Amino acid sequence: MAVLPVVMYPDSRLQAKCKKISQLDGRLQKLVDDMIETMRAAHGVGLAAPQVGVPLRLFVAELAEDYESPHAGRTFVLYNPEIVKASGEYEPEEGCLSIPGWVANVKRAEAVTVKGRDRHGKEVRVKADGLLGQAFQHEIDHLDGVLFIDRVSPEQLRRVEPKEDGAGARSSRSAQGVGTGAGGR
Ligand SMILES: [Zn+2]
Repeated sequence: MAVLPVVMYPDSRLQAKCKKISQLDGRLQKLVDDMIETMRAAHGVGLAAPQVGVPLRLFVAELAEDYESPHAGRTFVLYNPEIVKASGEYEPEEGCLSIPGWVANVKRAEAVTVKGRDRHGKEVRVKADGLLGQAFQHEIDHLDGVLFIDRVSPEQLRRVEPKEDGAGARSSRSAQGVGTGAGGR
């Protein structure tokens, strides 16, 4: 496994619509392993394939083991994910590994059901709320070339202080990928 370089805004690869995956092969399995390692190294909650320069509909997501959620510690790999149900609305703080140092409160559904295929090609449906549901919505946006900054006005963006360990705003595992912990989550 290898930690891959994360594509940074304003790289145009973050704005492209990604292609559906039709065939699962060994290269894809390796990509998934590398994406999981890259997400963990960056203390992220989620990572989409275009963030490592691969224009395919695939993301990985994971909540820290000590996070309060029935999904804590579980690693999600979803190919060709689609939101099939969404309910509620809230505006949690959000950030992105590709846009370090910036956050905003973004309107999201409170809970979503996502349909897709797992890394073995099996069709799965996952219902997720809170941070995981937010991550799913954020990562699926990436697959359509949409970034969280596209969902807010420039005035809504806030700068967050980089932390001492050099990981930028990414130090808090519990809220990154999609948030930074700057709001105390
Ligand atoms: Zn992102």
